[in-house]
Amino acid sequence: MSWESSATYYKIINEYTNELLGSLNNAKSLMVTVNFEEIEKLQHANRWDEATQILINASKSLQDGGADFIVICTNTMHKLLPQIALHVELPFLHIAQATANEIKKDKIKRVLLLGTKFTMQEDFYKQILIDNGIEVIIPDFNDMEIIHKVIYGELCLGVVKDDSKSAFIKIIKKAKEAQGVILGCTEIGMLISENDIDINVYDTTLIHAKEAVRMAL
Ligand code: GLU
Repeated sequence: MSWESSATYYKIINEYTNELLGSLNNAKSLMVTVNFEEIEKLQHANRWDEATQILINASKSLQDGGADFIVICTNTMHKLLPQIALHVELPFLHIAQATANEIKKDKIKRVLLLGTKFTMQEDFYKQILIDNGIEVIIPDFNDMEIIHKVIYGELCLGVVKDDSKSAFIKIIKKAKEAQGVILGCTEIGMLISENDIDINVYDTTLIHAKEAVRMAL
């Protein structure tokens, strides 16, 4: 979610599998794509139970289709994972845990978290980082508003604007104490890359997709 970042996942998963295995190898995979219009409405209307049911149904169809494990291709919807997991037998590869593992490898202690307001403000994501000994900084209220608006109003529609890129860079530079920045929304990689910033960049889409390949292999 959105399909823009699902497409990125699909590309990375197949490219990385080919990088590791060579020849004509690609990943065997099953993908369920939900309609993000429905999901976005439920999120912003605080109707999370209905969104959970959609993801339980999606997970069950992956299970019935023969998947070995599940990757939920969005940071935000990991908010619902504890409830989803109660109804699905397959394991899930958690995006925040995969990201925490990468940060720990680099011995980074303090990171700025960018994502939707749900991801930045609530505990479901940050707590996993904190439990891994990582200190989490979030932008101030106005900056969170800007980021949230760009995600839903531009990036999820495939729109990448120079102004928004500059705004994100400015927000990242304000967090002077941060040793790294988590692109904690699967579309932010469309806007920002490690070439734009001096500190370490943790692109959750890239990290999650590559870890899924390693787990599968
Ligand atoms: N893809 C985004 C994320 O990683 C936001 C869209 C969504 O709410 O799933 O959080």
